[in-house]
Amino acid sequence: MLNIVLFGPPGAGKGTQSAKLIEKYGLAHLSTGDIFRANIKGNTELGKLAKSYMDAGNLVPDEVTIKMLESEVKKSPNANGFIFDGFPRTTPQAEALDVFLEGFDTTIHQMVSLQVPEEELVKRLLLRGAESDRPDDKDETIIRNRINVYNEQTAVVADFYTKQGKYSSIEGVGAVDDIFGRICQVMDRLNAKA
Ligand code: AMP
Repeated sequence: MLNIVLFGPPGAGKGTQSAKLIEKYGLAHLSTGDIFRANIKGNTELGKLAKSYMDAGNLVPDEVTIKMLESEVKKSPNANGFIFDGFPRTTPQAEALDVFLEGFDTTIHQMVSLQVPEEELVKRLLLRGAESDRPDDKDETIIRNRINVYNEQTAVVADFYTKQGKYSSIEGVGAVDDIFGRICQVMDRLNAKA
């Protein structure tokens, strides 16, 4: 089993690279953003709760997010491993994930962190906003708030995994396949160790 946290600010390319990783390594993909958006679409109670936070570009409260993530993991008992995309976004989320995975006799094996300069992120997100129906990608003020939230509340999660010796930094600018190649080097090293 191989569990990866794919990390990076909004617009770093986590979704794009996740799709390629799923295809190559057969891992289950859990994107908390996607799960929240599916709940908003389905008009569930969880969706209603998450929407106001997401529309403003703020984090959904830890308690709600952790509970949701845990119930999603339990839905895939036979997975080869997971790519966690957009989770954990706070240190309490990372701590909860460690405890939860321990209960299944597993752990996070590596955090793969995509590095992209801020102005490139804004450019990418505005472009995505023009091509999708994501409201949080359409407004530059909200985009900049999401990046600030990342810098203030989420970036620190990298320290959590660095302390455990599980942190890899990846240059996230350039051709999609070149970035994927860099991630694969990390994945193949992990697989060789397993
Ligand atoms: P994303 O699709 O990962 O960019 O997430 C979109 C939005 O969903 C974020 O701006 C947050 O409002 C919410 N969200 C996603 N994942 C989390 C998380 N782990 N913790 C709190 N809020 C989250």
